Amino acid sequence: MDAIAAAQVLSEIGYLLRQNEQERFRAKAFAAAAWSMVISKPDLETLHKTNALTTIDGVGPGIAKVLTGLLETGQSSYLERLRSDMGQPARSDETELDLSQYQGDVHSHTNWSDGHATMLEMARGAHAIGYRYLGVTDHSPRITVVHGLGAERLLAQSLEMAEVQSQVEGVTLLQGIEVDILEDGALDLPDAVLELLDVVIASPHVKLRQEPAAMTERMLRAVSNPYVDVIGHPTGRRPGSRPGATYDFEAVFKEAARHKVALEIDCDPARMDLSPEMARLAFECGCSFTLDADAHGPEQLAYVPMGVWMARRAGIPQDRILNFLDVDELTAALE
Ligand SMILES: [Zn+2]
Ligand SMILES: [Zn+2]
Repeated sequence: MDAIAAAQVLSEIGYLLRQNEQERFRAKAFAAAAWSMVISKPDLETLHKTNALTTIDGVGPGIAKVLTGLLETGQSSYLERLRSDMGQPARSDETELDLSQYQGDVHSHTNWSDGHATMLEMARGAHAIGYRYLGVTDHSPRITVVHGLGAERLLAQSLEMAEVQSQVEGVTLLQGIEVDILEDGALDLPDAVLELLDVVIASPHVKLRQEPAAMTERMLRAVSNPYVDVIGHPTGRRPGSRPGATYDFEAVFKEAARHKVALEIDCDPARMDLSPEMARLAFECGCSFTLDADAHGPEQLAYVPMGVWMARRAGIPQDRILNFLDVDELTAALE
């Protein structure tokens, strides 16, 4: 078993543990180990044979034991137990996704808003892991604490993007925005601005506890905006600490499918939003998906391989995930 496959198992364990507030620290430890394995790609078989699994960053004796079981039997009895405890047994229709064909991430942040790296550092990070494109989607103005971008700063950002693009070959930079979905479902930037961008991710960030009928109206309005391409982290939840919005998911997902608006599986381990069950519902409603890291620094781009298990568990095939499209196909899909 390779490091990426093992990291997905650790990541799913972390996700299940995180649902239980008392297991938060253990959940974080599993996610951290998964992250370090995606980044360093250790040779697990050799480390196992030499009893050296604990030399991997973030892997202590407990996680090493889980890895040992995984390497010896091809599955994790610990994960199986957690799944059955939580009423989420394995299903026969899980899909295989070939991550070597993953072309690029469409949701990332830079220091233009709350990212901690420059656009050049993000572009180089994407290049280093073989991506063919990267969506740069900083926040919109309403998120004042992070200095969100209005029309004027977006224009300035596009000039920097042209400069960065000339320095990084092989990765196409897509200029986008993560635009806030306001309380009434309007968006935090005018259509005339959204229209100019390559990728528009509309996300709920505040007032997530709106009562479900109002929240449903809000999300229905957002997905019907003609310039929205993706709904980012569709509930805004943070498992174990913040429940996230509740609305008529089926109605919103069907409307998203009708408007060809994709739903994001946000692979940040603190979010993992959707959930396997909701992603399955969205798939059955006809939605497409993006699998994004929502990275705030280049090292966080590695969240995608950690989060891909959710799409597999939801039975989503590769042709429903936009990130497997090449850049021309993606640009056409985002028009
Ligand atoms: Zn967001
Ligand atoms: Zn984001």
